[in-house]
Amino acid sequence: MNIKDLLNEFSEANIKIDEPLSKYTYTKTGGPADALIFPKSKEEVQALMQWLNANNWPVTILGNASNLIVKDGGIRGATIILTDMNKITIENKTIRVLTGAPLIEVSKRAYDAELTGLEFACGIPGSVGGAIYMNAGAYGGEVREVIKKVTLLTRKGVIKEMANEDMDFDYRHSILQESDDIALEVVFELKDGNPEKIKEKMDELTYLRTSKQPLEYPSCGSVFKRPTGYFTGKLIQDAGLQGYILGGAQVSKKHAGFIVNIDNATASDYIELIAHIKEIILEKDGVTLETEVKIIGNDVTREKKGSSALLNKAKTSFKSKLNQASLADETLN
Ligand SMILES: Cc1cc2nc3c(=O)[nH]c(=O)nc-3n(C[C@H](O)[C@H](O)[C@H](O)COP(=O)(O)OP(=O)(O)OC[C@H]3O[C@@H](n4cnc5c(N)ncnc54)[C@H](O)[C@@H]3O)c2cc1C
Repeated sequence: MNIKDLLNEFSEANIKIDEPLSKYTYTKTGGPADALIFPKSKEEVQALMQWLNANNWPVTILGNASNLIVKDGGIRGATIILTDMNKITIENKTIRVLTGAPLIEVSKRAYDAELTGLEFACGIPGSVGGAIYMNAGAYGGEVREVIKKVTLLTRKGVIKEMANEDMDFDYRHSILQESDDIALEVVFELKDGNPEKIKEKMDELTYLRTSKQPLEYPSCGSVFKRPTGYFTGKLIQDAGLQGYILGGAQVSKKHAGFIVNIDNATASDYIELIAHIKEIILEKDGVTLETEVKIIGNDVTREKKGSSALLNKAKTSFKSKLNQASLADETLN
């Protein structure tokens, strides 16, 4: 793994060395990428993957980085960010999209073309590739409902096509989470729609989103998947954790399922706060929360001062609250 070889081999490519990923992540946290590469075409990604694989480079793929926490130590090897690969082509009722395109833009272009089916996606801030990887969805819709086929690239640089039925879509899941293939292009199949109705739906969903979500702060959206039979936000609220601050990260006062960066949070603040919430909810409700957000990258070797002390203090105060509550219960009995 030699950076000079990479720069020589891809001298035309846009490659940034030691680039802080906090500039790209929605949480505004995360350490540096050794090499952050911005390909513009499918062919460029394929050539990169073939070379990187042959030269034993570890490779990480990023879309819009809206569902990621990159650890403070950053990412070793090559990080390919697909946001410059973003062409959108509309033909009749199909939309062909390179996967770095923003899903919000595709939803808007569908409306412009009077096509219905992507209204639910009008506020999801990811790239199309990230949306396929996560089977992103909102307000009753999911991308799997409108995808016809996906062009994939294996880690060894081989291109293949996959029909919707073979993508193993499920709640916040697709086959990409196991296969590690890279989505390069997707064909959406939509239906003719009434532009007034499409706009009405998008306005309604935008209103719901802006009134319920803390969009005024950096975040990574809903941190946890919805556990069967529960609402994550309510569990967190009922545990008294809403508004709770660790370092620069806070459980949002507006939506307890979000963790917002209120004061120069680090990825470690996020990760420690997530662990704290999981521990409390397991202890209090017996529910194991699973993160929807992906945590990637390397830990920093140096210890971040303050966070552990804060965390221990919080744990003690919560445990004493629990003890007081059970004492009160006993008194009532
Ligand atoms: C304010 C806010 C609101 C949100 N609301 C919603 C919502 O309503 N519904 C919802 O589902 N999500 C929501 N999210 C989460 C997020 O936007 C989605 O999960 C989105 O689909 C992630 O896309 P991304 O491009 O940002 O992916 P990234 O965060 O860049 O990556 C996520 C994962 O996808 C992989 N990946 C990215 N691109 C590709 C590709 N082309 N091929 C293979 N793997 C790839 C990455 O390696 C990573 O593992 C929200 C996030 C925020 C910040």
